[in-house]
Amino acid sequence: MKIKIAKRTGEIRQDPVSNCYTIFSEERSLRPFYYEFQNTAMESSMCPFCVGNECLTPPDILTVQDDSGTGWKIRVVPNKYPAVRASGNIIYSRGDLEYSVSSEGEHEVLIETPRHELSLTGLSETEISEVLEVYSCRLVSLSENTNSAYCSVFKNTGPIAGTSVVHTHTQILSLPVIPPVIANELFNCSIYYEKNERCLLCDILENEMENGYRVIAVNDSFAAFCPYASRFPYEVWIVPMKHSSHFERSHTGDYKDLAAVLKKVLLNLEKRIEDCSYNYFIHTMPFRSQASDSYHWHIEIVPRTSFFGGFEIETGMHINHVFPETAANELKSISLIRDKRRR
Ligand SMILES: [Zn+2]
Ligand SMILES: [Zn+2]
Ligand SMILES: [Zn+2]
Repeated sequence: MKIKIAKRTGEIRQDPVSNCYTIFSEERSLRPFYYEFQNTAMESSMCPFCVGNECLTPPDILTVQDDSGTGWKIRVVPNKYPAVRASGNIIYSRGDLEYSVSSEGEHEVLIETPRHELSLTGLSETEISEVLEVYSCRLVSLSENTNSAYCSVFKNTGPIAGTSVVHTHTQILSLPVIPPVIANELFNCSIYYEKNERCLLCDILENEMENGYRVIAVNDSFAAFCPYASRFPYEVWIVPMKHSSHFERSHTGDYKDLAAVLKKVLLNLEKRIEDCSYNYFIHTMPFRSQASDSYHWHIEIVPRTSFFGGFEIETGMHINHVFPETAANELKSISLIRDKRRR
């Protein structure tokens, strides 16, 4: 049976051979490329995320006031050139060979500081924990849209990582589908749980802590380590010590501990890799899911030291020239190990 659909401005199509999704959004092509000129004297007058240029973005969704109460320190605004858009009317098209869903969702930008010259690591741990809390607030709010299945929270830093605006920010993108990467993680974790009655990430974490040679930072609530099969040189995962399936159900104190580990890891990466471009993203349970004993949320940080080549695109495999044991050794020798300041 083939269902004809009404004309729409954007859609998400699934390739039946690979199961990969592609979001089609013609308005993304209008997106300006700010990166180069923002390092010049033009930066403050042209940057859409700087104080005084608030009129260059759509109106705020959420604002965190600064301590004086006269300005802002965090803003969340709609992305001016969204990949997805909320219409309230989700349309599915299921043919034998063609499956698509309208690109129903929200695409937001979280501006982490009003200060153009700062990177995320230039913020204090308290300020970073406030950014993480705002991630959580937006996830909770976006989950209320019954058309949303998953929300991607990701950060691009540096030109190789896909940044178009230098001013430090995170993107938050809710989707009507569960991305295949997450579906695959959920599946693998549930298979492991069925077999072992244990959470896979809890066991990986236990193993990493026992061995220690891939661990680079630890505090009471989080551990950071280079994963066994790291795809990228100096890839780092940050995993909560206590089992938890939903990022947005963490406690305030957890975000403080997470901010401490995240800042240390990013600072060490910046020290180890000159002009470090990186992405990080949160992998968490899809919306409307109950707490899960088998899935364990985490943050993946992937430094980008080169562009993808044909092999990676063709096979989904990566060629990594730094073993994670070497990467961890280099990253932890830059500073730290165990931080026992809290609680
Ligand atoms: Zn700026
Ligand atoms: Zn777990
Ligand atoms: Zn993951």
